Order: sequence, then structure tokens, then C-alpha cells
Amino acid sequence: MMRMSQALIPTLREAPAEAEVASHQLMLRAGLIRKEAAGIYTLLPLGLRVIRKIETIVREEMDRQGAQELLLPIIQPAELWRQTGRWEVYGEEMFRLKDRHGREFCLGPTHEEIITALVKNEVRSYRQLPLLLYQIQNKYRDEIRPRFGLMRGREFIMKDLYSFDRDEEGLRQSYAKMYEAYTRVFTRCGLTFRAVEADPGQIGGTTTHEFMVLAPAGEAGVVFCERCPYAANVETAECLPPEPEAGPPPGPPERRETPGRKTVEEVAAFLQVPPARLIKTLLYETEQGPVAALVRGDHQLNELKLARTLRVGWVKLAGEETVQRISGAPPGFAGPVGLKGVRVVADRAVLALAWGVTGANAEDAHLVHVVPRRDFQPDWEADLRLAQAGDLCPRCRQGRLQESRGIEVGQIFQLGTKYSEALGATYTLEDGTERPIVMGCYGIGIGRTMAAAIEQHHDENGIIWPLSIAPFAVCIVTVNQREAEQAKVAEELYRRLWEMGIETIWDDRDERAGVKFKDADLLGFPLRVTVGPRALAQGEIEVKFRATGEVRTFPRQQAAEGIAELLRSWGGEPGVSGGSDTGL
Ligand SMILES: [Zn+2]
Repeated sequence: MMRMSQALIPTLREAPAEAEVASHQLMLRAGLIRKEAAGIYTLLPLGLRVIRKIETIVREEMDRQGAQELLLPIIQPAELWRQTGRWEVYGEEMFRLKDRHGREFCLGPTHEEIITALVKNEVRSYRQLPLLLYQIQNKYRDEIRPRFGLMRGREFIMKDLYSFDRDEEGLRQSYAKMYEAYTRVFTRCGLTFRAVEADPGQIGGTTTHEFMVLAPAGEAGVVFCERCPYAANVETAECLPPEPEAGPPPGPPERRETPGRKTVEEVAAFLQVPPARLIKTLLYETEQGPVAALVRGDHQLNELKLARTLRVGWVKLAGEETVQRISGAPPGFAGPVGLKGVRVVADRAVLALAWGVTGANAEDAHLVHVVPRRDFQPDWEADLRLAQAGDLCPRCRQGRLQESRGIEVGQIFQLGTKYSEALGATYTLEDGTERPIVMGCYGIGIGRTMAAAIEQHHDENGIIWPLSIAPFAVCIVTVNQREAEQAKVAEELYRRLWEMGIETIWDDRDERAGVKFKDADLLGFPLRVTVGPRALAQGEIEVKFRATGEVRTFPRQQAAEGIAELLRSWGGEPGVSGGSDTGL
């Protein structure tokens, strides 16, 4: 039970200037967290209640899929990390320490090494597989730029699950289970999200999905189809080539003077063509020498796709000197026609043009009527551009893509045998042959899920908690705590609600009603119950929904039952983490 007069809920009228995003500001203002050092926070009682609610939902959904919870150590020996080569790979992001004997350890940034070593020692036979093991544990990453409060911290709570299977087919089944579990978790947390196809990055493996909560404060760009489930990180989203443009080819390229016009907008306006008619020629340096990458004027080049197409580790936009040397002109006037000493890679949308406008490889000049494959030959053609809103969906080919920002709250990976081979985690088949265990790993940022929920659910007055993760479902406000009769009615209702299992906080402070109402809004409890003069004079108790502002009244004697019924019909049992219809 919780009385506000005795609770440690240090609310602030103003958010500290360092808090840039809504969730960070509101967590500080509502007294959920306090900063101890950059990216390191204390969770205050109200904040911890939300964290525990999210953890409970996560546990229930992991357990539903047959997973088992364990707890791995935070301090991990360097030796294991050396065996997978990640002691070096992790670099400065890893918190390292030594014990009194000079042995090296780290604070676990993740737990693949340690759990694979465990399974190597404890699992011998195919009969022991599959296994799904998880923990909810602190992780440590010395982020170069910790920011946005719990969104990107250096110490953070994560649920990490690892799957161990006999073969790829088993892994696919484990992966599908986790995909379902994650969908249920974020739906139950009341979040609008998308599971997006993503780039595996340094963790390795092939297939991976990120679960992205859609919110403007997100760090990642996401595109998703308006008609089908297709969603992808904007960096990896595929782009369909457009239909080739019809019409007879124009005459040979003609040179046009374009004094001082360098940008797509300037050139398009000057030559009176749409930007989509322009062919941008971007000169890049790579480890295999310079290349010219061609994309349409209204498109953006995706450097990740460029590097993949060229099979190089890095690409870098060429400096002014290199551009001058290769094209014979300052930046802004390069073009593929007659370009020497450099290989050309063209986006498919460029090749679908009947003709385009390019730089003339001369200062203040462009060429019109440049016909791809007639006037220049690309060495490669590929999907090179960044997906954008309005593109045709590459999956259903009917819907259009929409663009949003996304907060990554979960990620699931198919790791394969990368860690089991490095650490020698094998099992024996019926016939005695030995095989590496096939692994997957699956993370959920618990604190980040809390931050994402606030990003999606707040208004100018404060947080609007989804019922399933609210620190308390109900807040009772006594209008005048000094009025003995009011206080008595409020306390009776407070006790009755707790007896019914409804998590209720009672604002019994000796404060003005306006202050208490403001705090109730800031703290975001789903239902606010007012006990004031009306409750005594007319025997009516007022219940207000934080999300909609809707008000209901109940006769005093039936108020507890009325509130319980409201919560039941809203989503799940009173007081326990319920379902929600706001997800996908
Ligand atoms: Zn689609």
C-alpha cells in the first residue's frame, strides 16, 4: 500500500535542461529516476514499480514459450572473451577491471560468451536440446555518448535469452517462438511497434529483427508498408526498381551551360526539369580505389548498400581534390559520360530513365539527353539508394512505404554456430557424431521499454501510463485532507481497493487540491478518484480517466466495485498486468 504523504516521489516543476526528450524530462519530473553519473541512474520507488511490471510481462511471455530463467554473473573473465575474439573487438565500450591477482575481467556488456561456456560444460547429448535460457540482468557499456536518460545508458537492465538447438531448423523454430513472445510482450505493454528487418552488425549471424516502438524521439529511421507487415530499418530496406521509362530515345547528349548551379535543386530549376530527371554522380574513395556512384536526383545514396555492392569494408565521399583530379571539374559537375580511370556503379532507378541530366565533367556545365547504357556503361547495377516514404513496398508491391522514427526496444538474432564453435560447445548425435550447437540470442531493453512507453504515451501535463505497466492503477485524491469525514471516506475506499487487489496510491497530503490534481496528471496514473465535498453531500465518487479525461461517477457505497469493473473491462484483471489493444 502507498500513501503519498509517506512516499519518496520527488516531483519537479521544471525538467533539468540536460533532458532533451520527453521521456527523460518526464522521468525526472515525475520522480522516477535520478542521475548519479553520465548514463548511470538510480531507479526511485515509482520508477522501479514500472520496471518490475515490464519484467513480469517479459517473464510471463518467456516462460510461456518454455524458457527457463537463470542468473549469470556481471563480472566475466577476459579469457572467454579472448576465445571469441571480442575482447579486442569491443574496444573502449567495455568496462574492464582486474582482481587483486592481476587477472582481467569485464563488466558484462552482453552474455553470449559466458552462457555458451556454461552450456558447453553442461550439455552433451542431443536429448538435452533444444534449450531456451534467459536472465534479467544489468549490462554495462561505456557508451561514448550516453543520453536521453534510460534510452541510452551505460548501466541498463536487459532481458537476454539464448536458444540452443541441434540444427538450423531447430533455430528457426526457436526464433519463431521469440518473435511471437516479443510481439506479445510489446503489445501487452501498450506499445505501437513494428518488427523490422535489420543489419546484424558486429554481433554476427544472419537473420535479425529489431522491435521498434514508433516515436519521433527514436534514434533509427524505419520504413513500413501501409498494407502488409513489411517493415525495415531505413538503412537496409530494399528498393524496387521503377518500370523503365517509355518513349523514343532523344538525340545525342547536349551540353548546357549552368553557371554556378551545383545542387540538384539549382540545376533542375535552371534547366526546367524535375529533380528525378537528374543523375547525381557521387565520387567515393574505397579500399579498392575510387568509384562513381549514380543515383537519381530525388534519391539519397545508401552507403551501406554501396559498400555491400562493391564488397568493400568502407566507402568515403571523395574530397574536393580527388573530385577535381577524376572529373576535371570542381564538385557538382561530375558525370558518367567520358569519365576515365574510375569504375561506375549505377542505381537501378537511374537505368530506368529514358534520359537524364548529368554533370559534364567541366566547370559550370551539364549534359542533357544522356541515355544510360547508350552514353555510358555502368560496371555494376544495383539497389543503391535509401528507401523513402512513398516508395512501392518491396514485399507486397501494392502498398506505399511510410517513414517513421523508431526506438529499438528489442532485437532477435540467429547466431548460428559462431560462439559454439569458438568456445567448443558441441553435442553428440545418436550415432556418436559431434556437432556444434546452433544458437540464437534475443534481447529486450527493460528501461528503454519504459522510456519508449512514455514517448508514446504522454501529453503536456505528464505521463499517461498504459494500464499494464502503470506504477499504480488508481490514485485517490482527497480534496481536503483536513476534513475528517473526507479523509475517512477516502481511507475506506483505499483499503477496500487494496483488499480487491487493485494497486492504489492515496494522495493524503495536506496540499491544495489543485497541486494534487497536477501531480496525479504528471505521474500518469490511469484512474484518478476524487473524494471531496460531493462525496459527502451527494454520496458520489468521481472517477477520471487520465488518457481521455472522461469522468464517471459512482454511488459512494459501490465505488470500489465500480472501479474494479472499469479496470476489468479495460484490460485484464485488476492490479495485474493486463492486455492492451493499442499494439498491432
Ligand atoms: Zn507491403
